[in-house]
Amino acid sequence: MDINKINTRILPVKFQYLAPKTLEEVISFLAEHGEETKVLAGGTDLLVKMKQRLIEPTYILNIKEIKELSFIKSNGNSLNIGATTKLNELENSRIIKEKFIALHEAVKAMGSVQIRNMGTVGGNLCNASPAADLAPPLLVLNSKVKAVSTEGEREIPLNKFFLGPGKTSLKPNELLTEIQIPYLPEDTGTSFLKVARTSMDLAKVNVATVLKLKNGKVENCRIALGSVAPTPLRVCEAEKVLLNSEFTAEKVEETAEKASQEIKPITDVRSTAEYRKEVSKILVRRALQKAYERIKVRECG
Ligand SMILES: Cc1cc2nc3c(=O)[nH]c(=O)nc-3n(C[C@H](O)[C@H](O)[C@H](O)COP(=O)(O)OP(=O)(O)OC[C@H]3O[C@@H](n4cnc5c(N)ncnc54)[C@H](O)[C@@H]3O)c2cc1C
Repeated sequence: MDINKINTRILPVKFQYLAPKTLEEVISFLAEHGEETKVLAGGTDLLVKMKQRLIEPTYILNIKEIKELSFIKSNGNSLNIGATTKLNELENSRIIKEKFIALHEAVKAMGSVQIRNMGTVGGNLCNASPAADLAPPLLVLNSKVKAVSTEGEREIPLNKFFLGPGKTSLKPNELLTEIQIPYLPEDTGTSFLKVARTSMDLAKVNVATVLKLKNGKVENCRIALGSVAPTPLRVCEAEKVLLNSEFTAEKVEETAEKASQEIKPITDVRSTAEYRKEVSKILVRRALQKAYERIKVRECG
């Protein structure tokens, strides 16, 4: 029996645990020991990997005590969310439900109540799973993340953040502190859909869309998928099919077909590449229709 595949509740690795009280302490520690350190937020991804000995950090740096990293704040043109804001806070946020329903739907589709009580938005992005549920909605919302180190701050567009499974463009000395989501024009529709083996599981495929019409034609269309490539991704060629066209069933079908050609899924424990290609087509079509219906309901309402 392979001990590493059993959930023993034991962390079989030695590490030094630190819980600094200020952001300055965190970033100066990362400046010195970033390479040997793993930041701990909710721990719902990190501890699983440590139990399986996929990672064996020398230091665990708990950032949950840093109050200034947990917030949901409107800042003129964008809604800013602190990295350690818990998933359940996103789920219960009225402004997210009203202004960014795709993000609200994605959080609701994640794990269980217990996972959402522990897991954080920053952890979901920094873990860089191709299946991360918050990635597609945050990608179509043109979000940026803020990274902080002793060298200063920088903003990274989310479409430049994911480099591969478990890999991001954060440097070892950087901490992700904030996610910035620009507000959408009022008459924009968004949506999120996910197919998974069980409600507790990561996605076989997840999809998010943003749609805006002008004079009966599609003025803006963004589509992102997860669990269908090494990183969550926008399907820009598919988006182009719908742009400047009327929103007809035929055009939507063509867009969905193009999206399924653009993705590069693999077969793994959750699904087969063939299933992912087929179901992506259906999810893209349904997600676009859902975004469209949301625009129409608002127009009539
Ligand atoms: C039973 C179960 C069900 C789950 N279901 C889902 C699901 O349906 N959908 C889904 O997407 N995920 C799911 N997950 C995965 C996980 O819960 C989420 O990805 C969660 O958001 C991770 O957040 P966390 O705070 O727990 O991250 P942690 O485990 O604390 O951290 C994850 C990684 O990010 C790094 N990190 C965290 N915060 C920062 C930061 N601010 N700056 C730099 N690096 C940072 C850590 O060092 C670590 O490498 C599930 C997990 C479990 C155990």
